[in-house]
Amino acid sequence: MIPDISQIRKDFPILDQLVNGKPLIYFDNAATSHRPVQVIERMNEFSLRTNGNIHRATHTLANKTTEAFEASRETVRKYLNAAEVGEVIFTHGTTESINLVAFSFGEAFIGAGDEVIVTEMEHHANIVPWQMMCERKGAILKVLPFSNNGELQIELLDSLITEKTKILAVAHVSNTLGTVNPIAEIIAKAHLRKVPVLVDGAQSAPHFKIDVQALDCDFYAFSGHKMYGPTGIGVLYGKRKWLDQMPPFLGGGEMIDRVTFAKTTYNQLPYKFEAGTPDYVGAIGLAAAIQYVQGYDHQILADYEHQLLIAATAKLKQIEGLKIYGEAQQKAGVICFNIDGIHPFDLGTLLDQLGIAVRTGRLCADPVMDHYNVENMVRVSFSFYNTMDEIETLYKALIRLKAMFGTMNMNSK
Ligand code: PMP
Repeated sequence: MIPDISQIRKDFPILDQLVNGKPLIYFDNAATSHRPVQVIERMNEFSLRTNGNIHRATHTLANKTTEAFEASRETVRKYLNAAEVGEVIFTHGTTESINLVAFSFGEAFIGAGDEVIVTEMEHHANIVPWQMMCERKGAILKVLPFSNNGELQIELLDSLITEKTKILAVAHVSNTLGTVNPIAEIIAKAHLRKVPVLVDGAQSAPHFKIDVQALDCDFYAFSGHKMYGPTGIGVLYGKRKWLDQMPPFLGGGEMIDRVTFAKTTYNQLPYKFEAGTPDYVGAIGLAAAIQYVQGYDHQILADYEHQLLIAATAKLKQIEGLKIYGEAQQKAGVICFNIDGIHPFDLGTLLDQLGIAVRTGRLCADPVMDHYNVENMVRVSFSFYNTMDEIETLYKALIRLKAMFGTMNMNSK
């Protein structure tokens, strides 16, 4: 079943504009998605009528803000099917969520000679915080590799995990290869060896229905701005059994119970991990984004995005000299590629001249670039507001640019 895309696009007025004189085609959704008017209006209305700092006052605006903030937490809890709101921590985004776990879990559970496993396809946000912690603690970072087709070599996991392994961190969906990793299987394997798992959900939360209890993940991190919400807000889900034992990440207001110069005691979950004034307007916007998506059948949107992926892959494969990186059996709407003889930055710039927004560069995934021995890639990434016509336009644009570069190369010989 195909959703009514033209109706959906009316909710995203940003899509209805000319860029460089051409109708905008936005294929950079993995970097950030757009916000529907419902989210923007909710945040505006809140700022216009309600704003007051949460949790700390008796006055009406502050109380209304606190209620809206905590209602947003409950919306997130339900969306993730977390067991309780104490397990839902608001952060600034996936990066902060992972840093929080790397720091606090590291402080509580990791010592010299212990091991942490990440995968070769991780975004830097799921590599560097672990490296920093390992350096601090004298621990060892181990890497689960992927095959050239973009699938993790899960069969190596059993031998990679040892009695020293303290945590495994893995992306649900790769931001470069598009691979949907079999995280349920990975979690089950890790749990058999008593290793907790952090799932980087930055690229999965926008596209799939997530049930943290069914997955049985120990931590799950995602960002609001990639799932139709605002920037500056994200979530860390964590099982209480871990969070209770982890020390705070940041210190300050709100995360304390009682402060004296002799000793400070900490607040209960989730506040122990929410020092300072949170982005409560962002949290309210994120809840509005979740409610927006819940207005549709998630499966129908996901199926439609899959159709976009299949159609775009088939089209791109018709272009001679175009190489796609990552052809896993299970893929989300992300395609990275290069075209022989054309620098990815040139491609990105020229596509922009045609109104087509794609991402180029190293995509915060140096190890993926190294795996394929390339400096940069071009990435297109889809959302349910994209259309088959847009894919056709991209295809024609690439054919045109390729012909243009072919002529230039011939002239320069
Ligand atoms: N992990 C993955 C897989 C990502 O794609 C991204 C964003 N590109 C991040 C983490 C970091 O997200 P943020 O910048 O919102 O913290």
